[in-house]
Amino acid sequence: MVHDVVVVGAGSAGLSCARMLQDGGADVVVVSDTIGGRLAYDAEAGVNFGAYFVMANYENARKLVTRRTRINPLSCRFHDGADGSFATVSGHSVRRSLGLGAFAVVMARFIRKYSTFKKNCEYMSQREAMELDPYIARLFVQPASEFIAAHHLTAVAQDYVSKFSYACTGVDLDSITALDFCNVAQGLLIPIHRFSFDAQAELNRLGDRFVRDTVVAHSEKDGLHTLQTAGKQQLQARNVVFATPATVTADLLGLGDIREACQLYVEHVRGRLRSGLDTEQMNLFPFTSPIVFTATQDDGTVLVYSRVPEVDRDALFVEHELLGRKDWDKAMYVTGRAYVEQQYGDSTYVAGDHNGLGLEPAAISGVYAARQILKKLVVR
Ligand SMILES: Cc1cc2nc3c(=O)[nH]c(=O)nc-3n(C[C@H](O)[C@H](O)[C@H](O)COP(=O)(O)OP(=O)(O)OC[C@H]3O[C@@H](n4cnc5c(N)ncnc54)[C@H](O)[C@@H]3O)c2cc1C
Repeated sequence: MVHDVVVVGAGSAGLSCARMLQDGGADVVVVSDTIGGRLAYDAEAGVNFGAYFVMANYENARKLVTRRTRINPLSCRFHDGADGSFATVSGHSVRRSLGLGAFAVVMARFIRKYSTFKKNCEYMSQREAMELDPYIARLFVQPASEFIAAHHLTAVAQDYVSKFSYACTGVDLDSITALDFCNVAQGLLIPIHRFSFDAQAELNRLGDRFVRDTVVAHSEKDGLHTLQTAGKQQLQARNVVFATPATVTADLLGLGDIREACQLYVEHVRGRLRSGLDTEQMNLFPFTSPIVFTATQDDGTVLVYSRVPEVDRDALFVEHELLGRKDWDKAMYVTGRAYVEQQYGDSTYVAGDHNGLGLEPAAISGVYAARQILKKLVVR
């Protein structure tokens, strides 16, 4: 049977794409080895082992998740790597008030511009949307550290924003683009929530349109795409959307440069945090620390995000019990300036967080691919 579309991958990008295609009446099949991908919510434990929060302005990704507790930015402790630390509201923040004000002004401009850019990206490729806005195009290639220096935000970034950015990206400010930096830094101003993801509801929605398998090869001849899976299935379609992680997409399509991914290790721990770490909901660390952040959950258990596999739990907890763990060898594609096109030929589409970090950019790229395909199906 030849389908209108096969979507490969069922993360934020693939599920957003499939949802729009289904709603538009397309004959779509989703093939993926997981449902959710880096949306890795453990319903039993009630914690996220992958993406941790959604922002209030995630117009697309929010269709996939249910918001839970709001994360209180005022209940954070910022550590300096030695023994020093300060809470969000403290004598330190009073001393930095001018810098924090300047940061808010810079971010207000970004949020305005970025919201138009994101809307545009639902209807045009990211490349076209960047051509419409030189401000965003510049941020895509500018190192975050250069952007910070140019806007005289060095002190406030060092104290606060670099640690929040490290918590969201797992790397330092020299590695990420100004666009990714500003994107994640919005979370200091816009409400952010923990969330749950209902994998079963997505499976119910897709029904027999979901194939749990791994695509191992793709070929195209005369507009007909053939996908081979590890389970020896063969799927055929007139359009294909690769909503797989960048490294997988690059392998399957033979793409050139892609951004490099960081590694993250997430541990769910029951325990008593040490003195100095037990006063606020979250502890945020600088890039010099292998621990990225800790976050106390509603039930008192703690999530620890680290960029090294061996987490020194004794340094964090007086006593501890490991409840669960997830290793992300390719957590987020954050390093480098490579741009991945979203369409190859007439009927091969790429969606995901290849060009922009997070659940929302991934979801938007899926929506864009779906819109392109639906336009063709209507014409036919
Ligand atoms: C630890 C961690 C914390 C994060 N925190 C946040 C956060 O707080 N907020 C935020 O917005 N973002 C966060 N992110 C980033 C966010 O999770 C990703 O940007 C987003 O989920 C990417 O979605 P995607 O659909 O592009 O990719 P994925 O979610 O990786 O989906 C890819 C899909 O493809 C499938 N697949 C892979 N290979 C194949 C194959 N060969 N054949 C078939 N299927 C295949 C996978 O199983 C998966 O279903 C975090 C990521 C991690 C890892």
